[in-house]
Amino acid sequence: MISENISRIKSEIPDHVTLVAVSKYQSLEDTKAVLDAGVNDLGESKVQDFLKKYEVLGDRPRWHFIGHLQKNKVKYIIGKTFLIHSVDSIELIDVIERESKKQGIVTDVLLQLNLAREDSKSGILAENLDNVLEALPGYQFVRVKGLMAMGPLTQNNDKIREIFVELKKIYDRIKEESVDATIQMNYLSMGMTDDYTIAIEEGSNMIRVGRKIFS
Ligand SMILES: *Cc1c(COP(=O)(O)O)cnc(C)c1O
Repeated sequence: MISENISRIKSEIPDHVTLVAVSKYQSLEDTKAVLDAGVNDLGESKVQDFLKKYEVLGDRPRWHFIGHLQKNKVKYIIGKTFLIHSVDSIELIDVIERESKKQGIVTDVLLQLNLAREDSKSGILAENLDNVLEALPGYQFVRVKGLMAMGPLTQNNDKIREIFVELKKIYDRIKEESVDATIQMNYLSMGMTDDYTIAIEEGSNMIRVGRKIFS
């Protein structure tokens, strides 16, 4: 089932789009099945669950941390992730900087935006983004590689599309204006099971898919 689901998704998406299989809540066995099906990017959203899988699978997959990250847990995941998608405050960046420096590594992250302004979601609000961007050149051990956002919780595809268009505009603007090495717009992480088709149409190059792979 898992391998068939993956084949179907891969046949639908262009080559330049990275498929991150969101393995949160899935057993180790099912997580391994994803790797065996040829998908090497795994998304986890809870530090404890991630560490359990990391113990067994190590650096074989590229690990994407996509859940809300508490500052006191940063130290457990630094050095293990390919990308942290859910960076949403200067305070969190400070902690990632400190923990990365200790290990002598640069940690790649995405800034998560809350464009739909939903209270239930974390993420930087549009009006606060410039403050975060202006602070970034001071960091040596954190590199912003792009942006992440979730579509709004609605069945209305126009509303979903609106948010993705807005995110792409911000991504392009930063890409154009940024001259500092701490800000490189390489990844636009948008699109999940219900909305990745729209997200890709609007410029996503990284989708995070859970249910459609595991059900
Ligand atoms: C759970 C989750 C996903 C995957 O969602 P599906 O609807 O199962 O595809 C993607 N991104 C984030 C941030 C998530 O928490």
